[in-house]
Amino acid sequence: MKRLLIVLLFGALALNALARSQPAVHGVVDLAHEFTFYGDGRFARQYLRDQKAVTSWGTLYKFDLSNANLLVLLGCAPQLCYCPEDIAVINRFLQEGGGVVIFGGSDHGPQNELAKTFGVEFEKGARAPLRGTTEKIEGAVGIRLKLTQPGFWTVLLTDAVKAPVAATRKIGKGQLLVLPRALAGNNPDASDPRNADWLAPLLVRVASGKRVDATKPFKGRGLTPGDYVEEHEGLKLHYSDYLKPYASSMFAIAQRCKPVIEKRMGVPLSPGMASEIGLLATGAGGFSSGRVLGLAVWWGGFPEREDSMIEFITHESVHSWVLPFAEIWNEPIATYVGNLVMMDMGFAEEANRRIQATIKRATKHDPQMKLYDMQGNSRKGAPKLEGGARAELQWGKAFWIFEQLRKEKPDFLARYFQAKRRLASKEKIKKYDANNTVAMLSVAMGRDLFPWFRELGFDVDRTKAEIHE
Ligand SMILES: [Zn+2]
Repeated sequence: MKRLLIVLLFGALALNALARSQPAVHGVVDLAHEFTFYGDGRFARQYLRDQKAVTSWGTLYKFDLSNANLLVLLGCAPQLCYCPEDIAVINRFLQEGGGVVIFGGSDHGPQNELAKTFGVEFEKGARAPLRGTTEKIEGAVGIRLKLTQPGFWTVLLTDAVKAPVAATRKIGKGQLLVLPRALAGNNPDASDPRNADWLAPLLVRVASGKRVDATKPFKGRGLTPGDYVEEHEGLKLHYSDYLKPYASSMFAIAQRCKPVIEKRMGVPLSPGMASEIGLLATGAGGFSSGRVLGLAVWWGGFPEREDSMIEFITHESVHSWVLPFAEIWNEPIATYVGNLVMMDMGFAEEANRRIQATIKRATKHDPQMKLYDMQGNSRKGAPKLEGGARAELQWGKAFWIFEQLRKEKPDFLARYFQAKRRLASKEKIKKYDANNTVAMLSVAMGRDLFPWFRELGFDVDRTKAEIHE
């Protein structure tokens, strides 16, 4: 019995390994029409777990789909659309047997426009519960499909009154799957694999009209190099065809910000850091990988409005600037420098308003600024802060501390980062904790700040710092 179990187990493992080395699906998740952290790998993690999937950050119609059999279109920013070249490529891919998935909603303009070219539209009005599978379907109910020629479609899910909600149709040798965006996950940490038991095998079926060759290359396209690469004065800009109209204004503002940030930071960027910018098709969020900044092109109403974009570019740049050691207040300090740079670039009133508003949110939790450290821990017995409350405290208290120091020495930040560049290298110190931070600030301010920080609720100790000067 035991032996049989082992054989069975081994067999299952071997089959599993075989399945993993020869995925049935080579999936491509499009990020060029709309960037989301979720689209970047999380969708694949949830629904294409045993398959091979890549992301495409560049112009979709320039992507090599020859060894792909699934194209996932999660969304398109309202400022963009699927251009005729995209639509031609999507159609050709379907003709050859590829599977295409269009996620959408009634207010997802460009997704809806694309769906319409295949005779289907997203509209409001679906009523719970959804039916059509033995699996329990999760996600907000509300979007249904309007099919121009219902006979062409296989309806997979219907609502309570039998209106179609998810459907496939054959196009050429391939299959198109259309369904509401709310039926898939959304969380950037991939913690919500909604309907995976239903959707994962469905994606394999949708892709089954085209064989892929696991022995041949199948690669994604990253943010860099972009379809277009421009370089001026040591700054490289990468972008897709879709974001071409925003490139020059984005490049110009990034170039204008750089010397202003450098003045506030007191030191130049380390060589190679933040030397490349990739444009992201979104108004929400970006990132810094040290060398490359991913910047949301419509942040804060850009290009019509500049103030938030200045704050945002500075924020992402500062993440690179502070390396090799991130700060204990890494997010707040990045935005705080952003606000100082806003002041320098003509938006002083708005910058001060933002600083004061941020501080005010912390005073709810720590009215005298004496209760909590940056982790929301209290040496004075106040209940630990978590989640949103901790974030409000961390941001507001950091801003308040910076403002106190700036009143004393208006260039305290430049002094601080000069000291940090000089004293905090990977060879000299192991970690950059609160003790080292306060020691470094003491160097910058020319006086011992440990007693003050202890009064403010930080559990810091000079003898535990590695910075001695
Ligand atoms: Zn950040």
